[in-house]
Amino acid sequence: MSVNAFLISDGTQSVLIDTGASNAWHDTMGSLYAALDEAGVERSSITDVAITHRHEDHVNGLIAPDGTEAFPALERVWIGVDDASVFTGRLAPVSDRVVPIIGKTQVNDRVAALPTPGHTGGRTVYEATSSTGTLLVCGDTVHVPSLQFTRPEVSWELDGHQPQARAARKELMAHLAAGPDRFVAGAHLDSPGVGRVGRSGDGFTLDYLTPPSS
Ligand SMILES: [Zn+2]
Repeated sequence: MSVNAFLISDGTQSVLIDTGASNAWHDTMGSLYAALDEAGVERSSITDVAITHRHEDHVNGLIAPDGTEAFPALERVWIGVDDASVFTGRLAPVSDRVVPIIGKTQVNDRVAALPTPGHTGGRTVYEATSSTGTLLVCGDTVHVPSLQFTRPEVSWELDGHQPQARAARKELMAHLAAGPDRFVAGAHLDSPGVGRVGRSGDGFTLDYLTPPSS
């Protein structure tokens, strides 16, 4: 399973959406810092991190493996209010910069936070807007892309509230399939995890913009 994070930047404003697992899960994860280096982005340039939900593969990258803050200039950590209690223990050092999201909220001029409970109570998706269209960064709306686009009714045990998660998945996919200028980015879509959603029968299709890396 891929674990993706997304940096949304227009050259002036930027926000990092999710932070991966750092050293807290599998050895094959925690590559976000190297990926930022490869992209020529200094970690010290990141002031805003927006979290889709409280699970460790999304929040733990706020802290580097050596225990220091991964983003030394961090000013705000956006997260749905119902997930905001996660900032204890390992994550306590950044708890003074948490901005709880209640209702639709602009993170910056281009990125809006949209509360979408289901996977967790505070699950939030983020919609970025440009002249090209919109990019919906939808966190854990889909965990198994090979199955859940064709059968969006399939939920799994880590969906905290399965009926709500199922309904949210169908609603988000229908929204995404409504126009060719709507793009999706998913934490567990096959890396790099960006594509377009279409309809097929009662279900949906996903066409990746960049073929998944192995
Ligand atoms: Zn996840």
